[in-house]
Amino acid sequence: MDIRIGQGYDVHRLQAGLKMYLCGVEVSSEIGFVAHSDGDVAIHALCDALLGALALGDIGKHFPDSSAAYAGIDSKILLSRVMQMVSAQGWSVSNVDITIALQAPKLAKFIPQMRSTLAPLLGLDEGMVSVKATTTERLGFVGRGEGCEVWAVALLQRP
Ligand code: MG
Repeated sequence: MDIRIGQGYDVHRLQAGLKMYLCGVEVSSEIGFVAHSDGDVAIHALCDALLGALALGDIGKHFPDSSAAYAGIDSKILLSRVMQMVSAQGWSVSNVDITIALQAPKLAKFIPQMRSTLAPLLGLDEGMVSVKATTTERLGFVGRGEGCEVWAVALLQRP
């Protein structure tokens, strides 16, 4: 069996009055992400991990934020398109692990829904989809509530 590992990272700025989507789930919040798409920084990091595993570049290469086609787009659609690229080469996802750094709001109660939302898009059982959240103890831009930072790792396999 052939295996590949990929890593992804993304940051989005926070602003009052915008919606907050993370891992395909709308998080109830007074602040949300400034972005060309729906701003789902977690799905963007995950897409970069999947693309990275196959050395296919990054999300900005495939879905440029200069294109009107992606204005306000649901990032789950971007993930589905990335998964088509993964499948087209005969790969499937073994597991993914996502870490979200956000000072507020608390994400714990949204995590089960995030995992169940991502799992079918990745062709995985929820047990293979890890989503973790942390604050940064009020340090740095995340701690000041200026932005959200996400890291994702994905393992792919091919028979
Ligand atoms: Mg992004």
